[in-house]
Amino acid sequence: MKTVEKACAKLNLGLDTPFRHDDGEIEWEMLMTSIDLADYVEIITGKGNGISVHCNRVFLPQDQRNLAYQAALLLKKKFNIHQKVEINIKKNIPVAAGMGGGSSDAAAVIRGLNRLWDLHMSNQEMATFGLQLDSDVPYCVYSQTAMVTGKGDDIELMPKLPKMYFVVVKPKVSVSTPEILNKINYDKLNHVDIDGLANAVSTQDYDDIVSHMGNVLEPLSSKHHAEIRRIKEKFEKYGADNAQMSGTGPTVFGICKTESQAKHIFNSIRGFCSEVYIVRPV
Ligand code: ATP
Repeated sequence: MKTVEKACAKLNLGLDTPFRHDDGEIEWEMLMTSIDLADYVEIITGKGNGISVHCNRVFLPQDQRNLAYQAALLLKKKFNIHQKVEINIKKNIPVAAGMGGGSSDAAAVIRGLNRLWDLHMSNQEMATFGLQLDSDVPYCVYSQTAMVTGKGDDIELMPKLPKMYFVVVKPKVSVSTPEILNKINYDKLNHVDIDGLANAVSTQDYDDIVSHMGNVLEPLSSKHHAEIRRIKEKFEKYGADNAQMSGTGPTVFGICKTESQAKHIFNSIRGFCSEVYIVRPV
């Protein structure tokens, strides 16, 4: 049996953390949206027992280090299923970008196998199951605009965003997510008004969304990667309504009300950076 799942990238319109749990896990407050930049994950099941992963980006791990592989393995164990699983990932989402690419692939495998194997897990059950893989997997099970709290598994779906465009820029630098998260000093965080942002999304007020965006981790990542600051300056120069880093970075996205504004920024920035996209929320 076979299915192809669309695995959308995500952007953090708002990202904050009020505290760290005693077990070291982070308590999140994030307003996330999925965008129309996606991987395509083909899942084939049949007689046999192994798991194989193939990805068009050959530098990515194609074994048990791949989150999609881990998702299939954990599901096989949980439901004691003896079938082979072949996973073919067509990767379009920039890697190690703060856009949740690996998490979205893993969520796609959970959704796909849930259907192929008639596991009858609800979205909430798939989200809870996905948390053991990465804190972004529960959100990626839904891949809609949502408020995400707790350790990443408390998902409150929000209305679809009003019409807007994002220009997404992935600089060549690599950011280590664990390194950035370890550097969080809770006494010095400049918190984001996440409730204000959620309210702006609920009322579909574009200008209010723009003025409430924020990522509490941006100063930490941009301190170590001047490129993040430089890209933000370009967004300001070329007329984005606002711009910020997604996740722990290094991707920076600018927000625009009109397509012509987004195209102007895209054309102005792509000379400086090889990975630039115009995308829309899904
Ligand atoms: P997040 O926003 O969830 O922190 P990210 O966008 O920063 O994630 P990913 O693209 O998921 O980062 O990749 C992070 C690392 O995870 C990569 O360097 C890669 O080695 C590993 N990885 C494992 N599986 C995958 C996958 N299916 N796609 C991409 N990366 C994967």
